[in-house]
Amino acid sequence: MSKNQDLFERAQRVIPGGVNSPVRAFRAVGGTPRFIKRGEGAYIIDAEGRRYIDYIGSWGPMILGHGHPAVLEAVTAAAREGFSFGAPTEREIELAEEILKLVPSMEQVRLVSSGTEATMSAIRLARGATGRPKFIKFEGCYHGHTDALLVKAGSGLATFGHPTSAGVTPGAAQDTLVLEYNNVAQLEEAFAQHGAELACVIVEPIAGNMNFVRASLPFMQALRELCSRHGALLIFDEVMTGFRVGLASAQGHYAGLIPGFKPDISVFGKVIGGGMPLAAFGASHEIMKHLAPLGGVYQAGTLSGNPVATACGLATLREIQKPGFFEALSAKTQRLVDGLVGVARDNGVPFSADCQGGMFGFFLMPELPQNYQTVMSTDKERFNRFFHAMLDAGVYLAPALYEAGFVSAAHSEADIAATLAAARTSLK
Ligand SMILES: *Cc1c(COP(=O)(O)O)cnc(C)c1O
Repeated sequence: MSKNQDLFERAQRVIPGGVNSPVRAFRAVGGTPRFIKRGEGAYIIDAEGRRYIDYIGSWGPMILGHGHPAVLEAVTAAAREGFSFGAPTEREIELAEEILKLVPSMEQVRLVSSGTEATMSAIRLARGATGRPKFIKFEGCYHGHTDALLVKAGSGLATFGHPTSAGVTPGAAQDTLVLEYNNVAQLEEAFAQHGAELACVIVEPIAGNMNFVRASLPFMQALRELCSRHGALLIFDEVMTGFRVGLASAQGHYAGLIPGFKPDISVFGKVIGGGMPLAAFGASHEIMKHLAPLGGVYQAGTLSGNPVATACGLATLREIQKPGFFEALSAKTQRLVDGLVGVARDNGVPFSADCQGGMFGFFLMPELPQNYQTVMSTDKERFNRFFHAMLDAGVYLAPALYEAGFVSAAHSEADIAATLAAARTSLK
């Protein structure tokens, strides 16, 4: 038995499914998950000493690659000063100031430990601030695993959601309305029917949890306009896109296309922790004043604003602000995507791909999908064969067709070329 198989067997004895987050188990693609021993720049090295070009980057956080010297130094210095105090530290202010400087739609921010926690708190805040119970989410968008978000569409717009997970009660799902992404008519109808009861709409502005699907411009305009007209808050879940698609995040990208555009509440995670457990949500003073200890919306966390995690996040945010960082990352990601499209075309494989900043997605279909249903109509067997061929060739892509890909500053032109060479053989 291989070392990875051996570890997987051992893991399954003590951890449900052998993993601490389901997608790691390779259930979608089959086969044995690789147990990672260490990371090094653009690479991860498994328990058998095999090296892979890493296009997951911990699902987004590792924008600088693994073991960036400046981040390592900041983290080890912080660890020497203490792991956690349960009392405020100056570094929390520094990180908050850094985030707010880059995200002008927010005036205040609260630090937490995971994206799940941040989106959960953002929705509670929206409900507390508006005094309304219901909210809209979109099929294919993931906002963490709190009860009210593990919900699928009911049968029509008049019915609210049904749980997608055992253990979630119909009560917890009953205020969640699930709509189709990029469907303006459906959104308008939902607001016409329920507008006065809606606290918020939560959306991934570029949906990375159905691979890579952009909110269309008319859809984004309708979101903003309908929320404002009906007094609902627009929540941007930028846990994945934040500081990943650009220094101004996805909201900056849309503000460039729609003058004056901004969300009401924003949620960040992944990159802002640089690989450590850290996330955040923020908004205007007017909205944030509802949060405890100022207001009646309760929210707390023993490890929130953790001194080591904030050091990691700060060092990461400082690196990505260096001149030319995103230009170089974007150009490299674009070269990868263009290369993949070219290789597929040469092989006569139906293929489409898109990217923004250091985030990309590709589909084994001729045109970019606009919603979850189309994404899931991908030829799954073909994707799985491609995934495993690439993995065997030393390229670690996301092990599911509905996940995005990530390029880091550590990826070299040679890594991109090696990836395209592997794709040329794998797509045959
Ligand atoms: C990863 C992710 C989350 C959940 O974050 P965790 O830190 O895994 O809890 C929420 N929203 C989006 C868009 C994500 O990509």
